[in-house]
Amino acid sequence: PAPRLPKPPWLRVKAPAGQGVQRTKRAMGGLTTVCEEAACPNIGECWSKSHATFMIMGDICTRGCAFCNVATGRPEALDMFEPAKVAKAVADLGLSHVVVTSVDRDDVSDGGADHFARTIRAIRRKSPGTTIEVLTPDFRLSDPGAADLMIKARPDVFNHNIETVPSLYLKLRPGARYFHSLWLLRQVKDADPSIFTKSGLMVGMGETLEEVAQVMDDLRAASVDFITIGQYLQPTPQHHPVARYVTPDEFDSLERMARGKGFSMVSASPLTRSSYHAGEDFERLRAA
Ligand code: SF4
Ligand code: SF4
Repeated sequence: PAPRLPKPPWLRVKAPAGQGVQRTKRAMGGLTTVCEEAACPNIGECWSKSHATFMIMGDICTRGCAFCNVATGRPEALDMFEPAKVAKAVADLGLSHVVVTSVDRDDVSDGGADHFARTIRAIRRKSPGTTIEVLTPDFRLSDPGAADLMIKARPDVFNHNIETVPSLYLKLRPGARYFHSLWLLRQVKDADPSIFTKSGLMVGMGETLEEVAQVMDDLRAASVDFITIGQYLQPTPQHHPVARYVTPDEFDSLERMARGKGFSMVSASPLTRSSYHAGEDFERLRAA
C-alpha cells in the first residue's frame, strides 16, 4: 500500500470517554451503530450528547466500497424484531432526532426497503415527537418499488449519499451507479415534497474541485435540500489512500459554493459526516 499521509492538526480528536458515552452504549443494548462500524472520529462528541446512528440489517455488507470500513460478505437473515428493538432504544435514549442507516442488502429482493419502512413506523409509534432521518442504500438497481415504500413511510429526512464524484465510481463504488442514486433522491422528492432530501460526499479521494461543483449541480437538479461534505479518512492501509487533506479554508469555500447553489442546509468541514450534528441542523432549519 501507498505510504499514509500524516494527519493534519485539524483532524485530531479526543478519544471517546465519559459517562455520556457509556450511557449511550448501554442504551444501544447490543444494537449496531455506524459510529463504531465506520470508526467515526466524532464518536466522543456525539455519544456524550446521546446522539448515535443506528445501523440496521446487520453489520455485513453485500458490497465492498474501497473507502468503507464495514465488513463485506454474506449477511445473516433479517431480524424481524429489529424495528421494535431500535424503537425501544430511541425511546430509552429520549432522542429528539434519530438517524437510521444500514448496510447494503443486495441479497434481499427489495434491498431492505420494507425493513427500513417498518423501522420508521415502529419509531413513530413509540416516539411520535422524534424526527426520523434515514440514510439508505440504493435498494438494488432494479427495484423501483423500494422508493415507494420509503415515501409511504414518510421519514422527516430522506438521506442517500452520493459519496464521491462520478469519475471515481468504478474504482471506489463498483456496485453502485451515480445516476441511479440521483434518480432515487429525485423520486422521493417528486412524490412527497414535504420530505427533506439530503446527500453527502467525501473529498480528498482524488476528485477535482470542478467535479465537486458538478455533483452539487446534479444534486440541486434532483431538488436535494441538504448537503454534507467531509474529509475522507482511510480506515486501514488496505483501503483507498487519502489523496490529500482538504484545508478548513477550502471547506469554507465549498460551504459558500453549496449555499450559493441553493442548498437549504450545508455542512462542510473536515469532520463532517452524514449524521454529524444532524439533529441540531434539522431543528435549526425547522425553527427558521
Ligand atoms: Fe455516529 Fe454520525 Fe456522530 Fe459519527 S457523526 S459518531 S456516525 S452520529
Ligand atoms: Fe460501506 Fe455502504 Fe459501500 Fe456497504 S454499500 S461497503 S456499507 S459504503
